[in-house]
Amino acid sequence: MICIFYLFDIFIKLLAVSISNKQQIIRTINLSKLETEIEMFKDSARINVKAGNGGNGCVSFHREKYVAAGGPDGGDGGKGGDVIFEVEEGLNTLIDFKYKKNFKAQAGEDGGTSNCSGKNGEDLIIKVPPGTMVKDDTTGIVLVDMIKSGQKCVIAKGGKGGKGNQHFATPTRQIPNFAKSGDLGEDYSLILEMKVIADVGLIGFPNVGKSTILSMVSAAKPKIANYHFTTLVPNLGVVQIEQGKSFVIADIPGLIEGASEGVGLGHEFLKHVERTKLLVHVVDVSGIEGRTAIEDFETINEELERYNALLASRPQIVAANKLDIPGSEENYASFKAELENRGYRVFGISAATNKGLKELMYYVSNTLSTLPDTILLEENKDEEVIYTAREERPFEIHIEDGVYVVEGNWLRKVLGSTNMTNFESLQYFQRALKKKGVISALEEMGIHEGDTVRIYDTEFDYSK
Ligand code: GDP
Ligand code: MG
Repeated sequence: MICIFYLFDIFIKLLAVSISNKQQIIRTINLSKLETEIEMFKDSARINVKAGNGGNGCVSFHREKYVAAGGPDGGDGGKGGDVIFEVEEGLNTLIDFKYKKNFKAQAGEDGGTSNCSGKNGEDLIIKVPPGTMVKDDTTGIVLVDMIKSGQKCVIAKGGKGGKGNQHFATPTRQIPNFAKSGDLGEDYSLILEMKVIADVGLIGFPNVGKSTILSMVSAAKPKIANYHFTTLVPNLGVVQIEQGKSFVIADIPGLIEGASEGVGLGHEFLKHVERTKLLVHVVDVSGIEGRTAIEDFETINEELERYNALLASRPQIVAANKLDIPGSEENYASFKAELENRGYRVFGISAATNKGLKELMYYVSNTLSTLPDTILLEENKDEEVIYTAREERPFEIHIEDGVYVVEGNWLRKVLGSTNMTNFESLQYFQRALKKKGVISALEEMGIHEGDTVRIYDTEFDYSK
């Protein structure tokens, strides 16, 4: 029994060597290089999000026949809508964000008379693929890792609605002729990043047309590091079927051949290709290489089995290529009949002339949507969802040409809700600056009476 196994092993080794001789494989691989660079299969997009502004409070007084001076009855403004990210299981890439980059949630309605509050703005929900990392483009801080299906995170908060003048009546101020403006909704420039996982692997002998297929069907390539050892680098492309429906396809040249020779591939690399859920097995049915399609198909599958049983267990769709070459039709007919007999789905294509690729990709996409994301789910089962608390950034002051420039997200909000033409509203503003320590910070910096303070697009004269 042992003996038989031993013989079988030798046979496989011989087979491997004979294949590899034809292919001129590079045998030395810098492992550590490969592992770090795998980290760099990233898809990324830069987008802008803006939450809705809060509606303004209303200034109004109760009016009724025969009632001389009614009380204030200005209603509150509605809250602006939030921008919320939600993980959607079926999404695989960030390609949709290459076409749409600006997202804005609805503003809150202004308050009305007779204590009528304005309606809240609707939240804007943006669907992202699992594994999307959201970074603030300005600070580079990771805001959130969107990992689990259904996970939601408020990325930009909508502005609070301004209070109507009814809230500002006091025993000494019976006719408040001001209301608060709504707060501004937060806005952010964001970088979305995700480690790309190939959903589909292209396998087959060299020269059967794998690279050609990839170049014909992919709309955009995710960022791929410059490899020294290009022979063993999966070449990734994103196939977009329609909006919200895309997948990553990897041309894995040399992978199987190199691995079967006992060349050690990095653990990360294996993990990467093992995650493909589906394989497209490409064969050349023209016969121009002097081999038959059926033999090629079997050889590659044996190699695959030997290289990695998990990968070999993936469903395969067969693409019979180079149908444009005269004489290939007959080979194709017998090949197709034989493989369909064995339960495979076979597509006849001509990658060079773009024939049949669309049907093949639609079929791949539909099949993908029926396959579970088992590996990804298993891996992230116990992973904590990491939220980086977004701190209320404090203000910062610097001096520019003698002007004290004060900046800070919080300040922008306060400023947005201040009515500069109204004395009482301005007093609120001043108190807010004092409470947050802006005034004392200015004094520490040596500000003098009459100096200019600039807060965004508004300038003030400093006076005690
Ligand atoms: P790979 O090694 O599997 O990636 O194969 P390539 O995509 O590099 O293709 C090998 C050769 O076959 C190239 O010269 C291609 O132009 C050619 N080729 C690929 N697809 C077709 C096809 O559909 N028809 C014809 N006539 N040639 C093709
Ligand atoms: Mg190639």
